[in-house]
Amino acid sequence: MDFQSKLPDLGTTIFTVMSAMAAEYNAINLGQGFPDYEMDTALIEKVQQAMLGGHNQYAPMPGNVMLRQTLIQKTQQLYNTSLSLNQVTITPGGTYAIFTALSVLLQPGDEVIVFEPCYDAYVPIVKLYGAIAVSQVLLPPDFAINWQEVAQKITAKTKCIIINNPNNPAGYVLSEADMLALQELVVRYNLYLVSDEVYEHLVFNGLQHQSVLRYPQLLERSFVCFSFGKLFHCTGWKLGYCMGGTVLMQEFNKIHQFNAFSCNSPMQQAIHQYLQNANTYLGLPDFFQQKKDFFVQQMQNSLFTLLPSAGSYFVTATYERISNLPDYEFSQWLLKEYGVATIPLSSFYHSANVPVNAVRFCFAKKDTTLQLAVEKLCAVQKASTL
Ligand code: PMP
Ligand code: GLN
Repeated sequence: MDFQSKLPDLGTTIFTVMSAMAAEYNAINLGQGFPDYEMDTALIEKVQQAMLGGHNQYAPMPGNVMLRQTLIQKTQQLYNTSLSLNQVTITPGGTYAIFTALSVLLQPGDEVIVFEPCYDAYVPIVKLYGAIAVSQVLLPPDFAINWQEVAQKITAKTKCIIINNPNNPAGYVLSEADMLALQELVVRYNLYLVSDEVYEHLVFNGLQHQSVLRYPQLLERSFVCFSFGKLFHCTGWKLGYCMGGTVLMQEFNKIHQFNAFSCNSPMQQAIHQYLQNANTYLGLPDFFQQKKDFFVQQMQNSLFTLLPSAGSYFVTATYERISNLPDYEFSQWLLKEYGVATIPLSSFYHSANVPVNAVRFCFAKKDTTLQLAVEKLCAVQKASTL
């Protein structure tokens, strides 16, 4: 068959590869980002009740009206921003929201500024639309963004910027100064923004999440993408939402209506009810801070060097005291020899030859899982390859 692939160079995502290997070798999976503890059964019961109560037919195309109103109230309380109902659409997950946002914006030949390391979906989606990803490479330990360098990458073809805050995999969170610099560029050069905020509530050390929703000028030109999977510890539900400028969201719905059309009805009804109690999400920073602190503290006894993480499910670490293998090979060796799955940091870089040898750990796990993983990781010795 003479078939022309749209993404000829692309293999299977690293998350699937490492999770399959973790299962094959019976390893502890600190690779792919998902919790291994149970979600709140109160929310599961609300889904059951919604099903028994007859919420089993198509939800409205942009989503359950009461849920969208609840999300608007949450946004008002957290970020002091008033949105209208047509600025919110419920989606089958955060990735779908990002995918749809980029399909609204991109024409062949457009340039999109991405910050590496980044979630592995962004660049393939950009390529799928015949657009070109222009990378600003951020390096450990602090992954700081030099906005002057970003400005120099803007050309007449630049259409949009993608940010991910808090960041997967690096764990950095953007400051108010970052957001103002970003807003200045977006407005000055007439750009658009896709802001991936799926880790909105996973911000540590008392920092405040600088959502695009706090910046009305920016919001008008933005799509802001969220995931209920992260909010309620149920990544398998694949439900999320997108908020954005009125004109942009109208275009978003034109595509959404002929793709998913609408999302799971009983879950939307249940989430609307569950979200009436703000404690369901206000406790998340403390919950995850405790997990991160435990992991980081215990790992002081290992030969890994942990890099700072101020947000997300993740912390990265270099391993120069253990091995000089490239990180993909190192993560395979670690999994097979010591039974812990990680994700090589290079999977999040698309530019060639970025001088980073590090792995990403997911600490969204039961304390017992983290304890067991730490015991194995602290036993890792200097490899014979050194
Ligand atoms: N963005 C980032 C940065 C992520 O890490 C993930 C992974 N969960 C997503 C988006 C996707 O979220 P969802 O599973 O809701 O599609
Ligand atoms: N976001 C998750 C991670 O970074 C994985 C999502 C996926 O497997 N596509 O690990």
